[in-house]
Amino acid sequence: MSRPIVATINQQALRHNLAVVRQAAPASRVWSVVKANAYGHGLARVWQSLATTDGFALLNLEEAILLREQGWKKPILLLEGFFQPDDLHLIDRYRLTTSVHSNWQIKALANATLSAPIDIYLKVNSGMNRLGFRPEQVNAAWQKLRALNNVAEITLMAHFADAENPDGLIAPLQRIEQAAEGLTCPRSLANSACTLWHPEAHYDWVRPGIILYGASPSGDWQDIASSGLTPAMTLSSEIIGIQQLRAGDGVGYGYRYHATQAQRIGVVACGYADGYPRHAPNGTPVSVDGVMTQVVGAVSMDMITVDLTPCPQAGIGSRVELWGEQVKIDQVAKAAGTVGYELMCALAPRVPVQLS
Ligand SMILES: *Cc1c(COP(=O)(O)O)cnc(C)c1O
Repeated sequence: MSRPIVATINQQALRHNLAVVRQAAPASRVWSVVKANAYGHGLARVWQSLATTDGFALLNLEEAILLREQGWKKPILLLEGFFQPDDLHLIDRYRLTTSVHSNWQIKALANATLSAPIDIYLKVNSGMNRLGFRPEQVNAAWQKLRALNNVAEITLMAHFADAENPDGLIAPLQRIEQAAEGLTCPRSLANSACTLWHPEAHYDWVRPGIILYGASPSGDWQDIASSGLTPAMTLSSEIIGIQQLRAGDGVGYGYRYHATQAQRIGVVACGYADGYPRHAPNGTPVSVDGVMTQVVGAVSMDMITVDLTPCPQAGIGSRVELWGEQVKIDQVAKAAGTVGYELMCALAPRVPVQLS
């Protein structure tokens, strides 16, 4: 028999979460963000569950080509734009929309020979100081692009550093207004946090990622508990060993946990080589046969150890949910000092994936 760990992707949850996005931003079109292999869910596996979206946004040409080869005909947006002038051949051939964040890209567009003009997302630096033109540079960049035969529609695009914060958009939106002064063009600003919490920033196209997969943009499950979002990925395994501890016994590497009384411990076939966070401390939530309990002892490469005190019926073969509908990925991530984004993206290739 194969090792019992498996990741299950709930297709209905993906469809449902896209419907939640539509409800939250009813007047906007939706770029479903499927970068990083659909946040670890597997792009080839999941894009059809999101096929009522208006477009897919991602980073790699390889991922864009995969979507085209599998039959996706509607728009595809390259969120980081192209990485070298040569990429424009494939962008042209596969009819992709590309962001433009630097002057060298405008020059490359001017020099390229394309079969037809392409749509451009002109990236404004909202103050985050990652990609994009500063507000005072945007008009000149827009004019240069507008003058090119290779350019079709231009949309203003920006990203926010602090959209989880109720006041986090005030200064960035002012910068975007400054950038857009005198320009008539569509805008795309909103990531998941904006889509849920900042209707004033929805504009023409929203760009949700994490909420499509049913996790929280803020890292706190509570923040999306009432939004109706459903976790799309469940990571589950089984108990493959039991230890009966006596008071004072230690568990695992470094004896990071010691029993203070007699205690049953379950050994679970899941470790950091599966993508479970090695930093998960004692107390990280996990469920066994549907009962909430916790990790005790250090996470090792292939195993974790869990307290079976709340579930005395549990034994070899009991089902363990590492994250999913019951144990929210945000709760596990938070315990381990990270965010759900990182855990889902880090699901290891050795974990078999099934669709449900
Ligand atoms: C990743 C990304 C998004 C989606 O972010 P979420 O927080 O997952 O919604 C949107 N826009 C850009 C430019 C991105 O890189």
